Amino acid sequence: MSKTELSTVPFHRRYVAENELHYISEAITCGRTSGDGPFTRQAATLLSELTGASDALLTTSCTHALEMAAILLNLRPDDEVIVPSFTFMSTANAFALRSAVPVFVDVRPDTLNLDERLVEAAVTDRTRAIAVVHYAGVGCAMDAIAEIAQRYGLALIEDNAHGLGGSYRGRALGSFGVMSALSFHETKNVQCGEGGALLLNDPALVTRAEIVREKGTDRSRFFRGQVDKYRWIDIGSSYLPSDVLAAQLASQLESFDEIQCRRHGVWRAYDEGLADWAAKCGISQPTVPDDCAHPAHLYYLLLPDLRSRQEFIAHLAAHGVRAAFHYQPLHASPAGLRHGRQAPGGCPVTEQIADRLVRLPLYPDLDEDSVAQVIDAVLSYEPT
Ligand SMILES: *Cc1c(COP(=O)(O)O)cnc(C)c1O
Repeated sequence: MSKTELSTVPFHRRYVAENELHYISEAITCGRTSGDGPFTRQAATLLSELTGASDALLTTSCTHALEMAAILLNLRPDDEVIVPSFTFMSTANAFALRSAVPVFVDVRPDTLNLDERLVEAAVTDRTRAIAVVHYAGVGCAMDAIAEIAQRYGLALIEDNAHGLGGSYRGRALGSFGVMSALSFHETKNVQCGEGGALLLNDPALVTRAEIVREKGTDRSRFFRGQVDKYRWIDIGSSYLPSDVLAAQLASQLESFDEIQCRRHGVWRAYDEGLADWAAKCGISQPTVPDDCAHPAHLYYLLLPDLRSRQEFIAHLAAHGVRAAFHYQPLHASPAGLRHGRQAPGGCPVTEQIADRLVRLPLYPDLDEDSVAQVIDAVLSYEPT
């Protein structure tokens, strides 16, 4: 078969869970499509079982879950929040929206996670919180980071958009922070198009979190019959997803083991199939420390530099494989420059790896032939 006859392997394809269409049509026909219906409760229960969190509030996105966390922290203008520079903008934007200052700390060159050795030097008398991101679902060094948070009295927040199902030293990612945020965007392991959740690990936050999520009202308590009318109590917004989206999410969460098993199969095939080639070409594969179990959210390679990374993406495209780079450094972005600042020492690792990183296609429906096509395409590349 000539190259042009190869079918294209897309970068991403959404997975349709077994009960997905059935649950969605049930949500539509049962007559209730607004938030906090039966499927929202079902999805929240499944999330609590998966993560061990006592309270999981479904939201319209991970971005909104992070915004809720920022409101619940009572940040004041010019308070500082330590964030990695190598992450999605929502990790920093949520705090900037409260007029707080994201302080960008560099990442480790191996796991690409917030470098715990640089966190303490970024703490000032204005620091209120540390927000970590478990890149690719590989846990940050949570012992060291939690110790610093505790010593300085800082709140620990986890942007766990990649890490559902992952663990650090046997403990679920998302259970370390006082609050943690999940994403169910179409590109995440478990998805409902657009969606998220805020997991609360402090029961004292639950009442206010429900109010913030319901436009600043006590409507949740009203629906439970705990108050006889609902009123405007606090600031808040509309952070509840429709029960139709919750139905889709519930079906995906029920298929979690199946999704994960297939994703791990692809991840392992890449990791084993590319090991010799990577070593020979000076290309780095993902680092997973022994004390971390990851949920196969993404598979990435680090090429020697920007030029070879771009050449590699073009090479894969010519072989029918769509690959993608990832985050651009937040500290150097227009809004990052305006609303945040870099921690002492800057973020040189973030700048380097943002140029060098490429992600390979990884989704549950990637069949053996496609995985073989990706591996063959990669193996036929040699950095020039
Ligand atoms: C996807 C993602 C988000 C945003 O998720 P949404 O649900 O689309 O708002 C935030 N942080 C990280 C690290 C992400 O990967």
